[in-house]
Amino acid sequence: MTKELVVCHLYGNLLNTYGDNGNLLMLKYLAEKMNVTFRSEIVSIHEPFDPNKYDLVFVGGGQDFEQLIISDDIQTKKESLTEYIENDGVMLAICGGFQLLGHYYMGAKGEKIHGIGALDHYTLSQDNNRYIGDIVIHNEEFNETYYGFENHNGRTFLGKGERPLGNVVKGKGNNSEDGSEGVIYKNVFGSYFHGPILARNENLGIRLIKTALEKKYNEAFEVPQEMLAVNEKSVRKNS
Ligand code: GLN
Repeated sequence: MTKELVVCHLYGNLLNTYGDNGNLLMLKYLAEKMNVTFRSEIVSIHEPFDPNKYDLVFVGGGQDFEQLIISDDIQTKKESLTEYIENDGVMLAICGGFQLLGHYYMGAKGEKIHGIGALDHYTLSQDNNRYIGDIVIHNEEFNETYYGFENHNGRTFLGKGERPLGNVVKGKGNNSEDGSEGVIYKNVFGSYFHGPILARNENLGIRLIKTALEKKYNEAFEVPQEMLAVNEKSVRKNS
């Protein structure tokens, strides 16, 4: 039986800075290479989020303006998104989306943009400055290095139960103080990486899909050997 990956593109029509939607194209590309059928749909403002319908949720980044609009709407999805996350649902959240999963983000104009507090981080702003540039991080647990581009005002501080997606090798990361970048909480992966992140880091995309399918079908999922080999090549190319 062909396996199927059903993806929710949360606020996909509003949160898409620096080509974050490319992550969706990468998920589709990788899933199909694994002989997995891929299906995705946007869930946006005024639409309910069904925590039992999806195998993977992707949410991109945005300007403060879009984040403010979403900040109101996402409160109506707080319960269902928290249920999905606590139930080990797989999620990739980039930049503004990552910020909104936490308690709040102080926007560049000093406005408090409320998140849902499903994850325990909070995000401050900085005066007349943004963290912009190439970034490289290393994840010791997976022994993987990720490459990307960051552009954010927010300075995020992780909280209870959260560990970073990686330690900063080059660039600023979450706050340019504690050496952390992004987050892992249960099966939620958050990051400030654009690029989009999965285009340059197939290994992360493969990990997300494998985790989602193993949860859905409750059995081990073998990634085709040739994909792992290609992936090693792409890692070498990046470095
Ligand atoms: N507006 C947020 C910030 O500047 C998020 C930016 C983004 O998603 N690229 O920190």
